[in-house]
Amino acid sequence: MSTKQFTLKDEQATIQMGNALAGICSQQTTIYLHGDLGAGKTTFSRGFIRALGHDGNVKSPTYTLVEPYQLADWQVYHFDLYRLADPEELEYMGIRDYFTDDAICLVEWPEKGQGLLPQADLDIELRYDDQQRVALLMANNDYGRVLLSQLELC
Ligand code: ADP
Ligand code: MG
Repeated sequence: MSTKQFTLKDEQATIQMGNALAGICSQQTTIYLHGDLGAGKTTFSRGFIRALGHDGNVKSPTYTLVEPYQLADWQVYHFDLYRLADPEELEYMGIRDYFTDDAICLVEWPEKGQGLLPQADLDIELRYDDQQRVALLMANNDYGRVLLSQLELC
């Protein structure tokens, strides 16, 4: 299975998708999050990061570009590259060091880092649909396809 689509009727449904996906990650994982401002990329990330044991806030790291979360089983790095002026800034911040064996990387606005980011296992595109959102998930490799086949939302 290479693509899957869900209708997310409210914020809670977006959080729930983050939760569900976090629960099935079984190795180093890179997820790109596409979509306009307000589409739900950070909301999804909040559900994902909280599901892995983080209690506090999850805000988009718009100014710092990346927020690390050291959690019980995983190191999660949440990127927001919206304000990245030049992809070369990623070289200066040592971008490759973030994509390690025990790391899960969630990347908002990956388009801004094109050419300098590792390939994603999954691309998630969030779109407005009136008051709701539609999420289109696309797998880019075998591991991504396993994630999609296991992902179920109630
Ligand atoms: P982004 O990170 O993509 O800019 P945010 O997650 O910060 O977007 O903001 C999304 C906004 O839309 C929040 O105000 C949230 O309450 C709302 N929202 C999230 N998911 C949904 C949904 N499925 N349906 C309706 N509103 C949603
Ligand atoms: Mg955001």
